[in-house]
Amino acid sequence: MDSCRLCKEEGGALIWSGEDCRIVQVNDPGLPGFCRVIWHQHIAEMSALNHAQRHLLMRIVVDVEEVIASAMKPVKINLASLGNQVPHLHWHIIPRYEDDPYFPDSVWSEKRRDTNEVVALKRQAMAELLPVLIREKADSWTGKDSK
Ligand SMILES: [Zn+2]
Repeated sequence: MDSCRLCKEEGGALIWSGEDCRIVQVNDPGLPGFCRVIWHQHIAEMSALNHAQRHLLMRIVVDVEEVIASAMKPVKINLASLGNQVPHLHWHIIPRYEDDPYFPDSVWSEKRRDTNEVVALKRQAMAELLPVLIREKADSWTGKDSK
């Protein structure tokens, strides 16, 4: 698809890429740790995937959620698949904090505040560990020995 951003671009800083999908980290200083799992092929809906593909995609999404939860200790993680603007299958995995710019609204809502600068820097430092921690999990998705 010529007009599709996720067909043309990675969609963030690449963390991992497998046969079917990739994981990227979104560079948004207000939302450290924000990751996306993006299906490679231009498909709009989960129901267009076969059962094995659905299972793999959800497994990766939940594993990324688990890594983010344990590394970033957010108060909540938001999982979202919208695709209204970019109808190319992707999941957002967003750690949320009570003092993040949009809490308790969705991250696509109007900004309410700036996070304290020191707190934001600490979270940014934790977010920088995510690529290594996520790649560690990736061995179990590709069938390679996870040791
Ligand atoms: Zn696309």
